[in-house]
Amino acid sequence: MPVRPLHALLALVHALLAFVATGAAFAAGTAGDAPPPVPRSPETPLRVVASFTIPADWVREVGGARVSAASIVPPDADPHAYQPLPADMRLLRSATLLVGVSPEMETWFAALTRRAGGGANAVLWLAPAAAKSHSAGGTGGADCCASGRDPHVWLDPLAVIPLVRALAKRLGECDPAGAAHYAENAERYAGKLRALDERSRAALAKIPRHRRVLFSRHDNLGRLAARYDLTVGGSIIRGASTEGADPPAGELAALIRRARKVGVPLFHDEPAAGALVLTVTREAALPPPVRLRTESLAPPPAPASTYLDMFAENIRAIAGALAEKP
Ligand SMILES: [Zn+2]
Repeated sequence: MPVRPLHALLALVHALLAFVATGAAFAAGTAGDAPPPVPRSPETPLRVVASFTIPADWVREVGGARVSAASIVPPDADPHAYQPLPADMRLLRSATLLVGVSPEMETWFAALTRRAGGGANAVLWLAPAAAKSHSAGGTGGADCCASGRDPHVWLDPLAVIPLVRALAKRLGECDPAGAAHYAENAERYAGKLRALDERSRAALAKIPRHRRVLFSRHDNLGRLAARYDLTVGGSIIRGASTEGADPPAGELAALIRRARKVGVPLFHDEPAAGALVLTVTREAALPPPVRLRTESLAPPPAPASTYLDMFAENIRAIAGALAEKP
């Protein structure tokens, strides 16, 4: 993220708070090519390497004992901004199948897999056309990401169902003897995703209408908001990547005004709230910011070391933060 002197930004914010208001809407788009087939019939567990911990967890769920799954990005790390290491290329080349969410989300993984070459190491992008847009995100005039799409497809549990089915299909192509096993596991997991969705809907239904607004550090909660009848109030960093630019002062001022009006805590995706999150919290007189673990799983055996637990933990945090205050 570009560094900008905070005091300079604040001065501009103060100057513009009373005068500037902006709004934004994201554009939808479609893209993505289907990955090529990866025929293989291994006698030992399939080696599958995923870009980051969330798709790696799905590989474990669908693959079961027939698959050994690894994640390049470690737990608790940012999959947007990951800097590959030399050892990552070796890990990647040891795999039969590579799995990512979308080339727009893990741009570094797309580059890495291109450098590794195709053939048996072809990559399966689970959501290559993560095209569903959401509205009213960003601080003002920001696009969702370079293409106007929101790549955080996993923040809608029902949207994960076709992804795990696609994963099962590809694993079955790599290991035809296990095809039924993978399909069965995917359907069992789909049942858990539907149950998670129902529990989440019930928990969030209690939030009063005037507090059903999400403000976040980067623009990652649009899919969750759309699924559960919440509204995206805005995000601080421009766009759907944590590497997006700091907002212009006018947009930040508008965000502060909107957040002050609603009065709900900001959600951030880092272990500790950063300077801009704390600044907006202070300027808008908000309750303390709340962490959501949205980008990466926790290391096992900690809570939130699986996708299902991570999502449930986030829903509890959101329900608590947005509940009517006495
Ligand atoms: Zn993100």
